[in-house]
Amino acid sequence: MTAVSPTPRLNREARLAAQEKLPERSFLARNKFLFLRRLSQAGVFALFLTGPLFGVKIAEGTIASSMTLKVLPLTDPLMLLQMLAARHWPEGLALLGAAIVAIFYALVSGRAYCSWVCPINPVTDLAFWLREKLGFQAKGWQPKPETRFWVLAMVLVVSGVTGTIAWELVNPITHAFRVVVFGATASLTFVVAVFLFDLLVARRGWCSHLCPVGAFYGLLGSGALVKVSTHHRAACDHCMDCYAVCPEPHVISPALEGAKKGNSPIISSADCTTCGRCIDVCDRGVFRFTHRFDASETTTVPTVRSNCSGETP
Ligand code: SF4
Ligand code: SF4
Repeated sequence: MTAVSPTPRLNREARLAAQEKLPERSFLARNKFLFLRRLSQAGVFALFLTGPLFGVKIAEGTIASSMTLKVLPLTDPLMLLQMLAARHWPEGLALLGAAIVAIFYALVSGRAYCSWVCPINPVTDLAFWLREKLGFQAKGWQPKPETRFWVLAMVLVVSGVTGTIAWELVNPITHAFRVVVFGATASLTFVVAVFLFDLLVARRGWCSHLCPVGAFYGLLGSGALVKVSTHHRAACDHCMDCYAVCPEPHVISPALEGAKKGNSPIISSADCTTCGRCIDVCDRGVFRFTHRFDASETTTVPTVRSNCSGETP
């Protein structure tokens, strides 16, 4: 697939002219997947909190290794790999739990873990939103996106050398879980560090450049079925709102701008987090969720309003 440069953003007059001709979309319609993702992320915590709060145990353990309703073991496959690298042979249930999680994300979407489950995602989304509101336009210090794969390799090497699951000592995901479920205030330090890094140092710095967990789930889901399609790319008015909100904007252009080059409308990069934010903000109806084999396209012109979206975290 050929990389394609985005077409320049429409000027303000052209966007306002388009808005006047087309009907408005509701706030809910412009934030549907954002709300669903927040519900999903809160739901994960709720499963663990029903025990301590109401005495009804649904999920027990941690976000990395749990048992739901005493029948469904779920284990983070990256943690299992670290255990193996550290030469600790896991219990059968941990192996089964890791297989269940790995198969799910490999089939559905690897980085759906990032946008639909991970408790750090709202933190980095908030930092990004605040950055925009405060007018921090510069990208800041930007490590190369592939740095996360080097960090992933390092995580496994350190486990092998030290014989410990060393990453779990500093993993902000684990610490965010501890803050919410166990009230571990010391763990807040790691979460705040990620927030401040994204706010003050690098735009989308942690999740899109450094996090080894996101890198791992991206690799795991490189053949996954659920994809976002730019199925209505013919209707794109180049307002660039999707690029502005996407945590991995480089994934969009090969599909959105690639019709003339014969590129598929499917966003095929495993870096796409299937967050659906592009679907939310695009008032031209360019994007939709589909499966990886659906290369169908719509060529009619839509009658919806071009978007100057106000972002919410
Ligand atoms: S990149 Fe890492 S911290 Fe960010 S959402 Fe994904 S797993 Fe969570
Ligand atoms: S392309 Fe769309 S669904 Fe994929 S990460 Fe970007 S905004 Fe989210």
